[in-house]
This record gives sequence, C-alpha cells and structure tokens, in this order.
Amino acid sequence: MAVSAKQKKLDEIRQQILDDKVTPELATQATQLVFGDGNPDAEIVFIGEAPGKNEDLQGKPFVGAAGKFLDEMLGMINLERKDIYITNIVKYRPPNNRDPFPEEKEVFLPYLQAQLEVIRPAVVVTLGRHSLNCFLPDLQISQCHGKPKRLNGQVYLPLFHPAAALYNGAMRQTLIDDFALIPLIIKKIKATN
Ligand code: URA
Repeated sequence: MAVSAKQKKLDEIRQQILDDKVTPELATQATQLVFGDGNPDAEIVFIGEAPGKNEDLQGKPFVGAAGKFLDEMLGMINLERKDIYITNIVKYRPPNNRDPFPEEKEVFLPYLQAQLEVIRPAVVVTLGRHSLNCFLPDLQISQCHGKPKRLNGQVYLPLFHPAAALYNGAMRQTLIDDFALIPLIIKKIKATN
C-alpha cells in the first residue's frame, strides 16, 4: 500500500475513535486525542501506555522527558522520529497520569490493532508492562525485556518504559542495551521473510 493510502487509512481510524466516542470520561477531561505520530510505512512501531501532560497539550505521543530520552536512544541507532511510528494503547490522558484502567486498555485495543494492520511493521516495540501485556499477557517485563517474541506472524520486542528507566541508573543502561538490539532484530526478520 502506498504511504499516502496508509496515512489516509490512519486518518480514518483516528476519526472512528472520535465518532465512536471511546472512553467519554477520559475524552471530556483531556485536551485532545493523542492518536499517533510518525511514518505510516515504518518498520518499527513503538507503543507506550497513555499520553501524559505534555502529550495531552501538544497532541503528540512522547514529547515530554520520556520522549526526549526515547529520541536520544533512537539517535544511538541512527534513527529519527520520522523513521518510526509511535503511539499509545490509551489515546486520551488519564487524569493525574493515573495508570489506565483495564477496560480503557481493552476498549482502545481494536483501534491499536487497526493501526498496526495498516502500518504492518517488521517489529512492534512495547514500552513498559501495560503495552507488553496488551499483546503478551502472560509475560513479565523483568524477565522478557530485550527478547523478541513472535506471535501470530508479528514480532514484538518488549522494552522497559523510558519514563521508568529515566532516573534509575541500572534500568536506564538495560534499556539502552536492549534498544541497541533493534537494528539486528530487524535485519534478522528481513532475512527470514
Ligand atoms: N508515556 C507514555 O506511555 N506515552 C506517552 O505518550 C508519554 C509518556
């Protein structure tokens, strides 16, 4: 599918969330929907948890401190935001940045899956346990981080959440080390496809 056709389909999914009035309680408290950002034809899609304050204000995922750290790590593997696609499970900011409720994650999942069906990335990078457990509910982030998993033809790479790792020296280095595996994982996927 051409990039412009992919973008059009993503725009339709965005509109569908609005039309379906998904999580009206979150929607009324949020500034705006934070749908996703980046290259609709990306080989890598990053999935976080939910927008925070800065994301809610700017309408883009990962634009605060965690996002800056993510950009730094992308730079370490010679990638920029325009090369990847990034989104969250829950697409409105939960009040006071509370954890998203299970039912909020559940109701947004079909839209996230629709985004992935359009983009068709080589690898889905889950950031943190909420994102991981949406796709691989039985896995523990502490055990499986940095180890790619294939499920129903899709490769997932579980990583720690950059916000959790930002101020934790050991976790920060682990995340950087895991991040550095991404180019090799993509190369291997391409070689087997
Ligand atoms: N944390 C997330 O999980 N997502 C964002 O967009 C920002 C911070």
